[in-house]
Amino acid sequence: MILDIEAGDILPAKDAIALMDQTDLGPSIDVPEIPENAHPENITEEEREFLQGEVRRLKKERNALILAHNYVPRDIQDVSDVIGDSLFLAQQGAASDADYLVEPSVLFMNQILAALKKPHQTVLAPSLEALCSLAAHADVTKIRDWKEEHPDGIVISYVNTYLEVKAESDYCCASANAGKVTLHILENSGAKQPILFLPDVFLGFYAAKLLESKGHSLDRLHLMMGACHVHERIRPHHVLEQQQLHPEAITVVHPECGCTSACMRQVNEGIVPEDMLQFRSTQGMIKLVEEVPHPEVIVATEVGNLHPMSKAVPDKTLIPASREALCAYMKQNTLQNLYECLRDLKHEITVDPELARRARIPIERMLEIV
Ligand code: SF4
Repeated sequence: MILDIEAGDILPAKDAIALMDQTDLGPSIDVPEIPENAHPENITEEEREFLQGEVRRLKKERNALILAHNYVPRDIQDVSDVIGDSLFLAQQGAASDADYLVEPSVLFMNQILAALKKPHQTVLAPSLEALCSLAAHADVTKIRDWKEEHPDGIVISYVNTYLEVKAESDYCCASANAGKVTLHILENSGAKQPILFLPDVFLGFYAAKLLESKGHSLDRLHLMMGACHVHERIRPHHVLEQQQLHPEAITVVHPECGCTSACMRQVNEGIVPEDMLQFRSTQGMIKLVEEVPHPEVIVATEVGNLHPMSKAVPDKTLIPASREALCAYMKQNTLQNLYECLRDLKHEITVDPELARRARIPIERMLEIV
């Protein structure tokens, strides 16, 4: 058994899976405070009306499209043109002809738009403090070292990575298609070609289980020991407590969560019926709550996603597995700085053209496999 593991290390999948619940996968960068005005209850109705009115006026005047991630404050979501997860925002941004693509989200998503945008477009971000603890785990030097050791290796990077990492990758994937992309590569590559999945070990585990369910061995798969500190901290006891309080509720889990392996065990051991505990991407959760008949749903993901979910199913009771699952990076986006972003046309996100060219290859492959 390998000891002394750090976040960002790369291990054979079986070792990574054995160690993922015991390794400290905390953030390697500072987690900022959530600004007071990111909480809707701290904004007066008068302020909200003014700011939302100005945002609506300015986006028309600028010919701007606002693409907001599901985890940003709900006041922003309510005034945005597109709300979705990273994959959906990338697809919608790439399809738009608006002059300004304004994206309240985090830097790695802004970079995707900047790499895909048309020549006349400008990408703007309301805050430059909106980073990501998961993307920070993807150390590009470790990836290059792995590629040197495995010259015929194939690198799949989760979309939650910076452009330098994508430029080193063969494929990108999102949580919605991580298993599908990994399976596709395994079945369409040389029998001995090693595959590296990075940076989220819980999502890598989820993809690995899909491979095993299709009869594949994990011998060729390597995983990076990275995690999102928000999802990783949704632990098995959070889900169990809510299941005990709400025995009739269906549970839906984002596969980045620290409870993923325990929840899978619940299903595999017959403790919870398969249809009562499901795994979905951020966007997939919204579709699921619309489809299932259950009036109560336990939701294991960042709590911001409950806003679009409750808009989709206003009559259902949505129960967060952990109320503390808040991404402070996403909450750096506020209605105030969105307004300033449109008013002052700041902050422009630019990317190195050569890096963008290399990163577009795995991004476009991902968009084709969806
Ligand atoms: S929720 Fe996690 S993965 Fe998403 S932006 Fe925040 S830190 Fe990154």
